[in-house]
Order: sequence, then structure tokens, then C-alpha cells
Amino acid sequence: MYEKEVEERLIGHDAVLKHIRSAVSAGRVSHAYLVEGAEGAGKKTLAGQFAMALLCKAPENGEPCGRCDSCRVFLSGNHPDMHYIRPGEKGTLPVQRIREELVQDMEILPYYAGRKIYIVERAHLMNAQAQNALLKTIEEPPAYGVILLLAESVQSFLPTVRSRCVLLRLLPLPEEKVRKILTGRYGVEESTARACAALCGGSVGQALRLARSEDFIRLRERWMEWLSGLARQETWEVLARAKALEEDKAVIEDVLRMMQIWFRDLIILRETGSLSGCVCRDLDAKLESSANLYEIPELYRKIEVLEDAKKKLSHNVNYGLWSDWLLVELSRRKTFHQ
Ligand SMILES: [Zn+2]
Repeated sequence: MYEKEVEERLIGHDAVLKHIRSAVSAGRVSHAYLVEGAEGAGKKTLAGQFAMALLCKAPENGEPCGRCDSCRVFLSGNHPDMHYIRPGEKGTLPVQRIREELVQDMEILPYYAGRKIYIVERAHLMNAQAQNALLKTIEEPPAYGVILLLAESVQSFLPTVRSRCVLLRLLPLPEEKVRKILTGRYGVEESTARACAALCGGSVGQALRLARSEDFIRLRERWMEWLSGLARQETWEVLARAKALEEDKAVIEDVLRMMQIWFRDLIILRETGSLSGCVCRDLDAKLESSANLYEIPELYRKIEVLEDAKKKLSHNVNYGLWSDWLLVELSRRKTFHQ
């Protein structure tokens, strides 16, 4: 089960997997790695797989055997030589935690395996002081120590840290490739595959989770139904949708992205007269009846509004006020000037 999950989450990242497998089997392991990838790209899965292989007593072709004592304890989540450092409730990784849980802890010999592994999640949250505290350990670690720093972007690290780490990048896969993997390998139905591939940020693992989620499929149906009626609604009717936005707060990023895809599809349909480039072409009747209700510049404006909405959301706005603002902007007609 574990192996299947790992495989699914890391599909398409063959080069990175090959790199860690050959490092394990040749015993040429660096002391510090930076694992870079977007949210949901599979950083934790990759780091976990690497760590398990490094701790395994009998790795096979650079992969953990899954059967030895070390692998079994690893899978139970209680491996004494596997250390996770995660940001606290405040979303920070203060310097004293790095010192205590990593720098000082690493001086204690491993209990079980010949290695001690430290995975620092959201490592970009370490400030310069915390990174500097780590620097000496990265430069002169004990032979058994391996540090894996996980981050969305390596840009947040000091050049001194960056230059001493091996970079493992989980780059997003093209939408079309994700779609093909979903339909070809996992038998996902074509229209769902297209929508999930467009929403997954280039991660097959994320796309599969969406495709298998009843909630996601219903979420899509609800919002597509609403969007297809939007152009015929008055502002007061549109504002009534605030309740639904509140209910879908946990998945609001998916909702915003779905909306953008919808308006992008309408532009494609208006400009090419064909549904073939549209993500939502399973909703052909809805798209066709909506497309002519808008002027093309209005559609571009909607996409800008949604882009703006994402930015505002990332700046901790009041969600209720933000929803009302978004709905008013989405219902606004022909306010552009050409
Ligand atoms: Zn093993």
C-alpha cells in the first residue's frame, strides 16, 4: 500500500527518483539536500522514501526493502533515527528549535541504523539566524547525518546554505501529460481527467486525489452550474452566493481556479468558435449558451479579477468582505474601457 502511494505521488519525477536510488545504492549520499517543489508536488513523499531507503538495512536497487527491522519501524512512524522538524502553530521555525532539535540532536549517535535523518518541512520559514545556526552542521556534519530541507522555492535560502546542498527539484508536469497519465494509467474518465489536470498544479498525485474525490466532483458540478447562470443574474442574486463561498472556504483555491478555467474556456470558444481547446468541453451546452452573453474584454476582466482575488486572499483579508467584493466584481458588466 505504502509503495503504491509513493509511486502514484511521484509519477513523472523519474530523474529525481533515479538520482536518489543511485545515491543510495552507490552509498554516495550527500549530507544536505534541498527538496524544491510546489505545494502538493510530493516533497514529503520523496523525502520520506529517500530517508527510508537510507535507513534500510538491505535496500534493493536503492529502494527500501520494506521488510527489515528498520523499514518496519520506519513505517510505524517511530523510527528513533528519523527526525521531523515542522513549523509550530505560529508558522515559524525559530532558531532555538533548529539548534535543539537538529544541531545538538545530531551530535548524539544513531540508535538503530548507521544514519540519522532530519527532514525539515517548510524549511523556507527559517529566518537568516536559523539558517546560520544550521550552516556549521551542513558544512561539517557527523558522517551519519543527513538533512533534507523541504521548500517551495530555494530562493528563500541564504546562498551559503544553498550552495552546500544538493538540489532535488520536483518540477510541475505539463497539464497534457497529467491528463494522459490519469486516463491511460488510472482509467479516470476523460472529462474528470481534464478538469483535474487543469487544477492540480502539475502534480499527478494531487490530480489523482481530486479525481477520486466525490466531494471534488460535486464541487465542480455546483460551481459550473452557478457560473453558467451568472451572466443572467442581478448583483443581489449573485451576492447570495456568499454563503456557498463560506461553505467552500477550505477548498477556495480550487474554486477560484475552476472559475478561471471557466472564463478561459469561454474566451477560447468565442475566439476560435470551437470547443476543442476547452477544459470543460464536457459541459458543451453550458459553455455555448454562456459564451455569447459576454463581450470578450469582459471575460478577460473576469480572469484578472480572479487573479486579484487570489492575491488578496494570500494577504489575510477578511474572508466575508473578500467574498462580497469578489461576487460584486464577477457580476459587474461592461465596466471596461477600450
Ligand atoms: Zn529495509
